[in-house]
Amino acid sequence: MVPEVFINFRPEDRRDREGLFFVLSGPSGVGKNTLLGIVLGGLQGVYYMPSATTRAMRPGESQMHPYVFITTEEFEDMIERGQFLEWKRIHTNDYYGTHLPSIKYAIRHGYDIITDMDVLGCADATAAFPKHICSIFITPPSLDELSTRLYNRDADPGNIEKRLERVELEMAHKDRYDFTLVNDNLEQSARELQRIIEQVRNRVTLKR
Ligand code: ADP
Ligand code: 5GP
Repeated sequence: MVPEVFINFRPEDRRDREGLFFVLSGPSGVGKNTLLGIVLGGLQGVYYMPSATTRAMRPGESQMHPYVFITTEEFEDMIERGQFLEWKRIHTNDYYGTHLPSIKYAIRHGYDIITDMDVLGCADATAAFPKHICSIFITPPSLDELSTRLYNRDADPGNIEKRLERVELEMAHKDRYDFTLVNDNLEQSARELQRIIEQVRNRVTLKR
């Protein structure tokens, strides 16, 4: 079932400016969700925005963490109702989409949000909200290390192949991002990601 709200904002986290929209991209398996899990604990008032997807849940995942898991019928109904800023069919033809009402609400009311998206989705989001997006590209230390991470995470070789096929496309877009970060040592990379986000939040002035 599609939840009514994707994020529960707390009024005390409102900023006296419009909200920022942080987007993480990088090949599947590079560590985007792992990094997010670490840095969100240290960032007061930055909300994770789950995308909606039709892909199956992996062990360790649950509803809203990291996706709103819905059926193909539900997803297609949301497309028809204009509920997505953008949506794509990725890997095994599963749908992934960014919930437009949550983004509009967050920006207008001064809440900062973060999500991950493929490079094509990030390009769409940047075109739609050029002043509010801060884009960060995460790269692996090497392709071998990326495959190792994918194999450690998922036992299905078909899933892994599909993800490796998209690596070239994802990497070709990295220079279009505001920041790039190599996820080698996890602790160091998380600290660096947190520093980037804090720096942008403290410097930006977007009048409400
Ligand atoms: P993504 O969200 O980019 O698809 P995940 O966060 O699911 O990637 O990470 C993929 C796998 O790599 C997970 O098993 C995770 O524990 C592991 N991982 C993430 N970052 C690192 C790192 N810096 N060093 C080693 N393994 C990592
Ligand atoms: P998975 O989580 O299935 O391994 O990988 C999903 C891929 O889709 C990742 O590259 C992730 O960044 C991307 N993705 C997740 N949510 C969205 C979304 O809402 N829109 C787009 N365009 N890509 C998404």
